[in-house]
Amino acid sequence: MLRRLFLSLSRNRTLRNFMETSPRAAGWTSRFVAGNTLRDGLQVNRQLAERGILTALDHLGENVSTEAEAAAASREIVAAVDAIGEAGTRATVAIKLTQFGLDLGDEVCRRNLRPVFERARAIGTRVEIDMESTAYTERTLAMVRAMHAEFGCVRAVLQAYLYRTETDVAELNEMGVPIRLCKGAYQEPADLAFPRKSDVDGNFIKLMETLLRDGTEPAIASHDEKILLHALAYARELKLSPERYEFQMLYGIRRQWQQRLVDEGQRLRLYVPYGEAWYPYFMRRLAERPANVIFLATNLLEN
Ligand SMILES: Cc1cc2nc3c(=O)[nH]c(=O)nc-3n(C[C@H](O)[C@H](O)[C@H](O)COP(=O)(O)OP(=O)(O)OC[C@H]3O[C@@H](n4cnc5c(N)ncnc54)[C@H](O)[C@@H]3O)c2cc1C
Repeated sequence: MLRRLFLSLSRNRTLRNFMETSPRAAGWTSRFVAGNTLRDGLQVNRQLAERGILTALDHLGENVSTEAEAAAASREIVAAVDAIGEAGTRATVAIKLTQFGLDLGDEVCRRNLRPVFERARAIGTRVEIDMESTAYTERTLAMVRAMHAEFGCVRAVLQAYLYRTETDVAELNEMGVPIRLCKGAYQEPADLAFPRKSDVDGNFIKLMETLLRDGTEPAIASHDEKILLHALAYARELKLSPERYEFQMLYGIRRQWQQRLVDEGQRLRLYVPYGEAWYPYFMRRLAERPANVIFLATNLLEN
């Protein structure tokens, strides 16, 4: 119920405009967002690197409505890739295709993506294409396949809550495309996605086993203790070395588990968002956990 409310608020333009321009925003978002600028993202990247944690830098933004906004997002992310190259870190960038103009057509999106992939390939890093709602699944996967064929340095994201994902995992494994597996953060109808959380969790475990067995450098993106323990045990059973796969978590969530994975010699990458367009990302994090709403309410009262 609360999840549905926050996911529907995440698409509300008026509230988004009000929240993102509020001078108090930094106080609300600092737990989940590194800051407004690339410098903030890079600073968090440095702090994490000192603790042995890798980063996926995410310049926040989605569903742009003009070609100028899409081109600007592309320039911002090229700058992030260049900064990763200059800093010599092993960070990747995470992007959303609707930030690159997917709503304006595949060609606009592809035109804006190319410079990012060219720079990423040149410095030897990877572009992780986040998965958005089911309105975009098919076109996102088509773009992943095209970028894989042209540049190679892509990681796809698949969502365990979708019925179709088992087939997508098999197809991308066959092509050697690295996959980040997550549960899925959007509101989807019951004819496309498992409505019950227990079924989503069960499907995640099944797909995660397939990825650990047959995948190319898979990323297990979850904070769910059950899933983390299962992944560790299964990787041990397969005698996989930790370089063959990685765990991924969101900046600011489950910090004790983050440390535990690093201490156990596992590879961990944190998804580190930065930028001014934080509202939809932030609302999806609130939707995932009612306790976050209490945390926000306390902050609002304190301010
Ligand atoms: C690195 C990464 C990348 C992602 N990329 C995408 C993507 O491209 N597309 C997409 O649809 N989704 C993406 N997600 C979000 C994902 O789909 C889930 O919505 C989210 O991760 C919550 O699922 P969970 O596996 O952590 O399990 P859950 O069962 O939701 O949570 C397990 C436990 O983790 C903790 N937890 C989880 N979420 C939060 C939170 N927001 N605040 C505080 N504690 C929390 C709680 O203790 C909770 O009990 C990504 C997640 C990660 C970690």
